[in-house]
Amino acid sequence: MRRNRFISRARQSADAATLGKLARRLAESSSRLEDDLWQRRLTELLNDRLARGADADIDAALDQLARDDGRAYEELADLAEACAESATLDIDGAPHDALLLALPLLAWSRYKLPAGPVSSAVLDNTTTQLTAHLAARGVRVALADAIFAIDQLPDSFGEVHEFAQRAFAAAAEGQRLKIDPKSLREPVAMLADTRYLLAAFVAPQGQPLFHWQQPGVDPDAKTAALEAFGEQIANVLKPVLTGCRYRLLAPVAFHAALRDGDRELRGFSLEAAVAFLKLTFNLEASSLQATIAAYEDKRVEEMRVGIGPAGNDDSVVEGVVWPLLGDDEEAAQEEIEAALRQLGVTRVTAHAHRFPLEYCDDCGAPIVPNPAGHSVHTEQPEDGEEQPAAPLH
Ligand SMILES: [Zn+2]
Repeated sequence: MRRNRFISRARQSADAATLGKLARRLAESSSRLEDDLWQRRLTELLNDRLARGADADIDAALDQLARDDGRAYEELADLAEACAESATLDIDGAPHDALLLALPLLAWSRYKLPAGPVSSAVLDNTTTQLTAHLAARGVRVALADAIFAIDQLPDSFGEVHEFAQRAFAAAAEGQRLKIDPKSLREPVAMLADTRYLLAAFVAPQGQPLFHWQQPGVDPDAKTAALEAFGEQIANVLKPVLTGCRYRLLAPVAFHAALRDGDRELRGFSLEAAVAFLKLTFNLEASSLQATIAAYEDKRVEEMRVGIGPAGNDDSVVEGVVWPLLGDDEEAAQEEIEAALRQLGVTRVTAHAHRFPLEYCDDCGAPIVPNPAGHSVHTEQPEDGEEQPAAPLH
C-alpha cells in the first residue's frame, strides 16, 4: 500500500512511543466513548507534531506498529492521514473546517502526458463545476494551479500538512494556490498514468462540506451530483488532455484519492496497453498473448504483465505493472486474467516462479516476463509500420 512509503528510518523517541501506546489502546477499545477519547488525544499529539515539522516521530511510531500490531497501525495511519489533510482554521474570528481533496484522473497517450501549470480558464471552469455540483452552499473552494503526476505530489505527512495549510489559506483569501513550476520534478514517462488536481474545501465549523450533506437534500443526491460533475469536468479538462484518452475518478480526500488512483490505474494500464498495440502496430487483441509473473524484492511487490504478438515466445512489445496494494498474489493473478479476457486477450501464460524486481538501467522501464519464462525489456515488433512516440534503445 502507498502508506508503506511513509514508513522510513525508525527514530524512536518519547513522542513516537506515546503515539504507539495511544494507538494500541485505541485499537483495543470496546466502545465509541473510549474510541473518542483516544482519538482526541492522538489527534492533538499528531497535530502538534505536524505543526512542528516533527513527522519523523509519526513515521517511527508507524514503523514499530507495522511490525507487531496491524490494527493499531491502521488506526494511527488513518488519523495521521486525517490530520495531514484536514484542519480547523480561523477566518475573521470564526472557526472553519478545511479539507484537502484530490481529483484523480487516469490518462494514456502515445505522447507525453500533461503535468504542470494549467490555464486560468480551465482552473476557473473547474472551480465553477466544483462549486456547482460538489460543494455545499457557502463553502470556499481553492484550486492549485497545476496538474500533478504522482511523483510531484506532497509525499510525507509533513509535506501534505504543509501543502494543505497553504491551500486552506488560499481558500480563506478567495485565491488560487500558486505552485512554482520549478518545484515540480519531471515525471517518469509512462504510457498510462494518474494525474491529480488538488483543491481545498473550507466550511464554517460543523457545517456540511458537500452538497449532499446539506439539510433538506437527499443524501442519495450524491450519485447524481458526481455524475453531473463528471460530465462537465470531462469537457472542462479537454484542453489539458489533448491527445490523451482519459477517465475521471470521483474527487475525494487527498489520501483516499491516491489509493483510488493507484487501484484503478492497474486495469486502466492493461486497457491502455492493448489499445496502444492496436493503434500503433495494428495488433488485434485476439492476436496477442500475455504473460503474468510476480516480482519480488524482499517480498512480492507487484505483478508484471508482458504483452506481445502470439507465436513469438521470446519478445514482448508492451509491459504493464500491477502493484499488489494489499491483495495477495493469487487474487491479483486471477484479476489480471479476468481483465485480459475482458479486453479480448485469451492467450495467457502465468509463471509460478518469481522474478527479481528489476528496471532497465538506461530508461528505467520495468523488465517484464515473456512466455518463454524470462524477464525481458520491451521491444518493437520487427514489422511495426509506425514508430511509437517513446524513444527506444
Ligand atoms: Zn530501457
